[in-house]
Amino acid sequence: MTRPGVPAQPARQPYPWVVPDLFRWFFLLGLSIVGLVVAWWGVSGTARTGTQITWINIGVAAVVVGGLGNMTWLLQGRRAVALRRRELLARLPARTTVAVAPVASSPREKRVAVPGASRHHRPDCAAVAGKRVEEASVAKHERAGRRPCGLCGGG
Ligand SMILES: [Zn+2]
Repeated sequence: MTRPGVPAQPARQPYPWVVPDLFRWFFLLGLSIVGLVVAWWGVSGTARTGTQITWINIGVAAVVVGGLGNMTWLLQGRRAVALRRRELLARLPARTTVAVAPVASSPREKRVAVPGASRHHRPDCAAVAGKRVEEASVAKHERAGRRPCGLCGGG
């Protein structure tokens, strides 16, 4: 199944897969199990090496089918997560991307922190956007035991 313009998935769906993906996965795993059982049944009924090798080949093919089913399942989930992540990042406000750029700060640079928090931030950091913050120098924040935010850069 192709997924043109993936937003066909409702935003509230908690899983990266849809029901047809599940059925295809079950179908391939079922086919694999049936193939393994048939191969086991066939190989157990003969003592001739040539015939056994044929049945073993069928068993190997069944394992490959199961592996393809698992691989398809995982790749579909991975692709759906990547698309959802890209969609979420596109919806973030532009100033967030500015805040991500690492900037070296001097000890006297003003940084902000939410009272009681363990990290200090640049004033335009997305992690403190819209929150009540206290402004102080990096040195003062570090004396208070706060470390630099991992998002907006180290101090
Ligand atoms: Zn920050």
